Amino acid sequence: MSKNISSDYEKRISNQIYGLCSDCNRSKTFWGWCKNCNSKLFQKSFNCWTSGNEIIDQTIQDTQLNARNKREVIEWIPFDRFRNIQYLAQDGRIRSYCDDEKKQLDRKVYKLNEEDYKIAKNKDTRSPLQENEKTGFPIVLKKLNNSSNIHDGLLNEWNNFLKIIHSSMDNYSDSIRLYGITQDPVTLDYMIVMEYMSYGSLRSNLMVKKYNPIDKFINLLLIARSLSTLHKCNLIHGDFHSGNLLLQSQKYAYISDFGLCRPADNSNNSNEIYGVLPYIAPEVLRGNPYTKSADIYSFGIVMWEMTSGVPAFYNLPHDLILSLEICHGLRPKIVKGTEFDYVELMEKCWDPDPNKRPTADDLIESFKVMRSKYHSNYDRVQVPENESIIEFHPLSCYTSRKFDFSTILNEILIHSNLISSESLGSVLS
Ligand SMILES: [Zn+2]
Repeated sequence: MSKNISSDYEKRISNQIYGLCSDCNRSKTFWGWCKNCNSKLFQKSFNCWTSGNEIIDQTIQDTQLNARNKREVIEWIPFDRFRNIQYLAQDGRIRSYCDDEKKQLDRKVYKLNEEDYKIAKNKDTRSPLQENEKTGFPIVLKKLNNSSNIHDGLLNEWNNFLKIIHSSMDNYSDSIRLYGITQDPVTLDYMIVMEYMSYGSLRSNLMVKKYNPIDKFINLLLIARSLSTLHKCNLIHGDFHSGNLLLQSQKYAYISDFGLCRPADNSNNSNEIYGVLPYIAPEVLRGNPYTKSADIYSFGIVMWEMTSGVPAFYNLPHDLILSLEICHGLRPKIVKGTEFDYVELMEKCWDPDPNKRPTADDLIESFKVMRSKYHSNYDRVQVPENESIIEFHPLSCYTSRKFDFSTILNEILIHSNLISSESLGSVLS
């Protein structure tokens, strides 16, 4: 990591914006947080816990020693601290409650309501709540693939997450909180413990956005900030779509799922394309490496979804033909009434030439302008009941998956180009 230029955050620390620590007399690294004193405290407790895995222990210890504020702290969380463990329908996420044993990390602790006890009575619930357990906070557990057999590569998502949290402070952006790591005692899978986003994914809220068009400027500014942080870490997301954008409220949106993040300079070594078809940039479909500009293409598709209220190409099969059409320039149809500067930006994002697409920082600037231009006091509009029913094409697929047709796709495209240039040639002669 380059340390030559200190970030604004580091400057704020050295300018003693957060004050001096009364114990060690050094600059505090955040409000109420002294990195120097807290790392010593953490170090003292290193022999009180272990994950049973050296690499995981080391990662947790490193972050505790280097944490400049509460958000950067992670811990080993024994599985028996979770209650009401429930599998969410999609993508293997698990919703649960964590007890409030360690209050020093200043998490919001909620009083558990009747609904929580109702869930506890459900037969599928593991570790149901006991009558005397009255508080906790909702979390989500995410399995690290095949992680009972851990090695460096499997820690990719975890390490990217840490990197992004660390540089979020430097970039005035925010990220989903990462609380730590745990292990299921039955399956031995290691799991990331994350903040629970009560509004779910942006995809499940698209209609709300259509009916409340001002939301998009606020949501997209935050998402662009997170994307810029990610790109400044020299990472690319690689699987950016509305199902991976999570809402804490209708205002706060975050990027999640950093499992496919990879270094921007790491060219595609596997030839594998992975993702959700409508969001994959045409050059990636054709087998070119995934780049920051490919993330921007996906961002443009999400922009469109916020105006239409439906996922892009939901009514088409997500197959080779759709890929071909995307390579030939097919894009979602602009929704009538969309603000002209918004349309202009969206079209730049999905430009077939990756070099013509804006950067994440350009997006931030544009959304700042649009937010102040279009922002006004407004009453939220309810989505009419009959609006929310969408008939998805049976061959559409919004779960990330592997595609292996870039070779055949290129053959067809080269062939069709030959034909069109030949016919063009005959016209010219
Ligand atoms: Zn101190």
